Amino acid sequence: MKIADYYKKNKRTLSFEIFPPKKDSELKNIDATLEILSELRPDFISVTFGAGGSSNCNRTIELAKKIKEDYHVEPVVHLTCLSYDRSEIDEFSKVLKSEGIENILALRGDRNPDLPEKEDFRHASDLTAYLKEKEDFCIAGACYPECHPESKNRVEEIRHLKTKVDAGAEVLLSQLFFDNACFYRLVEDCRIAGIETPVIPGIMPVINAAQIKRMVTMCGASFPTRFEKIIHRYAESKEALFDAGMSYALTQTIELLTNDIQGIHLYTMNNPVVAGKICEGIKNIIKVEQR
Ligand code: FAD
Repeated sequence: MKIADYYKKNKRTLSFEIFPPKKDSELKNIDATLEILSELRPDFISVTFGAGGSSNCNRTIELAKKIKEDYHVEPVVHLTCLSYDRSEIDEFSKVLKSEGIENILALRGDRNPDLPEKEDFRHASDLTAYLKEKEDFCIAGACYPECHPESKNRVEEIRHLKTKVDAGAEVLLSQLFFDNACFYRLVEDCRIAGIETPVIPGIMPVINAAQIKRMVTMCGASFPTRFEKIIHRYAESKEALFDAGMSYALTQTIELLTNDIQGIHLYTMNNPVVAGKICEGIKNIIKVEQR
């Protein structure tokens, strides 16, 4: 099923993101996580794509297949394009087609000095247009409540987002954020710019100090004062920080659900404990949403 069809039917979606484990020994965790997540009957699970190299791509596809065949949940395959040329993208899309994958999150990918960039695709919108022209995939795109770090300003960012949607992106999945006001502003800016696609918020429970540092440096996500206070208060206790981070993510999720949003996309970090806590925390809310 194409995920855009959910929104056409005015369905609010629940979805998760997982990533392919690097080591075979971590496969057990994936199954434990998927067992828990699939109990909530998510509308889709997206699988990230490690830039560079076909073995990364194979792991993403293998995991997407597993989600579809073993857990009967619709997979969305992330696909980056900066270090690939047209023939490589053709090869990926052929494999995806043959595996019955219908949904792709088309991404540019981060710039990486160790990975040579190719000329065929400079932006996610180039990949989106190319895939749309060739095959009947449902294409999702990424969006950023606090702007992509490379964007000069918000006007330019929204203009480029419109290009991506005009190229064929039917759903936008957001970067993580900790202040819901940033997300509401993004949706408003999209609507003003004539972007009518569903914009789905991405929520990541913050559960340890190392992860917090990564969020700031890699995603540029800002911490609202109320969240900063929580981090400072419980920084000394791993267990307390875990509880506080989970509780913050759940509060954020519930606040979003009580507003006019079209779905929730939760980053699970392949952690079955996180997945379990999230599911426990929202299972009755989801029952109401799925009625
Ligand atoms: P783009 O949409 O191309 O935007 C990148 C920058 O270029 C922005 O500043 C934009 O404003 C600008 N831009 C866009 N179009 C134009 C144009 N026509 N002219 C000039 N400038 C333009 N990375 C991975 O490697 N693997 C993953 O699995 C993965 N999953 C992700 C999932 C989500 C939900 C999100 C939000 C991000 C994910 N990323 C992933 C990270 C992503 O690859 C990076 O954020 C990357 O730097 C930008 O990708 P993009 O698709 O948003 O790029």
